Amino acid sequence: MHGLMMDMPLAISELIRHADRHHGDTEIVSRRVEGDGLHRYDYRAAHRRARRLAKALARLGLAMHDRVGTLAWNGYRHFELYYAVAGSGAVIHTINPRLFEDQIVYIANHAEDRILCFDLTFLPLVEKLASRLETVKRFVLMTDRAHMPAKTSIPGLLCYEELVEAEDDRFEWPQFDERTAACLCYTSGTTGNPKGVLYSHRSTILHAYGAALPDVLNLSARDVVLPVVPMFHVNAWGLPYSAAACGTKLVFPGQHLDGRSLYELFEAERVTMSAGVPTVWLGLLQFMDANRLKFSTLKRVVIGGSACPPAMMRKFADEYGVEVLHAWGMTEMSPLGCVNTLKGKHLALDRESQFAIRIKQGRPPFGVDWRIVDEEGRELPADGRTFGHLQVRGPWVMRGYFKGEGGDPLRDGWFPTGDVGTLDGDGYLQITDRSKDVIKSGGEWISSIDLENIAIAHPAIAEAAVIGVRHPKWDERPIVVAVKKPGAEVTREELLAFYQGKVAKWWVPDDVVFVEELPHTATGKLSKLTLRQRFSDYRLPGT
Ligand code: AMP
Repeated sequence: MHGLMMDMPLAISELIRHADRHHGDTEIVSRRVEGDGLHRYDYRAAHRRARRLAKALARLGLAMHDRVGTLAWNGYRHFELYYAVAGSGAVIHTINPRLFEDQIVYIANHAEDRILCFDLTFLPLVEKLASRLETVKRFVLMTDRAHMPAKTSIPGLLCYEELVEAEDDRFEWPQFDERTAACLCYTSGTTGNPKGVLYSHRSTILHAYGAALPDVLNLSARDVVLPVVPMFHVNAWGLPYSAAACGTKLVFPGQHLDGRSLYELFEAERVTMSAGVPTVWLGLLQFMDANRLKFSTLKRVVIGGSACPPAMMRKFADEYGVEVLHAWGMTEMSPLGCVNTLKGKHLALDRESQFAIRIKQGRPPFGVDWRIVDEEGRELPADGRTFGHLQVRGPWVMRGYFKGEGGDPLRDGWFPTGDVGTLDGDGYLQITDRSKDVIKSGGEWISSIDLENIAIAHPAIAEAAVIGVRHPKWDERPIVVAVKKPGAEVTREELLAFYQGKVAKWWVPDDVVFVEELPHTATGKLSKLTLRQRFSDYRLPGT
């Protein structure tokens, strides 16, 4: 016997309709890509323009399931595209502009994008690549008439504002199966070609609910959220959807993610919450330090995408009064896997004991199930000590890559994350490493993340990566590749001495190499692959 409740499909268009009806005057503020100040409107206006845009896209021939590629920063037009495209039953394919040109061409062709919408910043890039984009029939520049180029090599280039202005807002969102594809995002793919993760309306809405929960992002109609995480990678961690569900004010930073630009926007728009990868916060904190600034409204920052260094968490709390929520996830998980918040029983603990819990990656919201397994796939105990390969499942976890690339990724119905970590009895996950990055020394494992966190806690170190290099006896030994803070000094010996007493003796790195800069991937993570290649001929002292 079925229940007697309404069978309303979970649809992305319902999010913006809800935001319009009940939070119509809540603002969405964007730094303009054209460079002239801020654009400001509200959910009501955003919904009106998304409807007009949906009509315009249909007029351009967009049909159900067609893909619309975007090369765009976090801004109001990208937000409108999120809703207009998915709301029409088509698929928004956000392309990471930081990828290599050949990868951009590969994924646009693989996705079979029919329309490509892009910000002014990417006009030269698209002019260069347009002739190689085999399936794109229409190119739309996301700007107004005044900023359209006088001459361009792009055939039939269209103007976004003209398209929107030509339509009226008499439009009803179509209804369809909630399992219909809505958004497509390619993994950054450190080896081989990037693979597409195809989210559905259902998975996106369930993720939007899950992400908004109090022990996850805790979003409300009283919050002002500035997503630093890009809308071109895993939907800015779902914030454009959760914010619409909760009626949260959104502030989009455009392309300027330097310390000064972010700080000015945080203060001017009274931002209460933000989210991003650790590297973006380095720039912001350095700018604030140098100028002796404080936040007046910011309360919490979600940091994930790579391990958040405990030193960064302390600095935010002790010097700026901002709570850091450590989060872990991946493209294949929409992306939220867990966020770290304390439980009631932890509140009586002293600060340091609480801190020891809060530096872990976090607890899963309802909707994410996980376990750790050994090499043979046998489940390992959640005792906070045993580490194993992390597997996940749930309604917003992927079950296969777009077009079946890479074959069936699941193992007994679980998605293997490629991460290694521990789980404890309270549900907290601690990531030891990416399984490819873990350092195998004398048959035992050393966590590169733990060793990086220690290096970054040294006052003279701005950023550090730890990789395994070949060793004749131990197989691999860790070395630290570090960037010093501007004007700061520390020697190899001093940094190695800093490890004493903090880890087992055999975990202490064998060498330190200082560099001017570390390589990063297109999603802002340390590129260990590049580093390992760079150090492939490296000889440890004394070997
Ligand atoms: P992506 O699909 O590009 O978002 O990358 C996902 C991967 O980033 C995960 O599988 C982890 O290896 C890594 N990652 C994300 N968040 C964290 C975190 N808080 N700590 C450690 N690694 C993380």
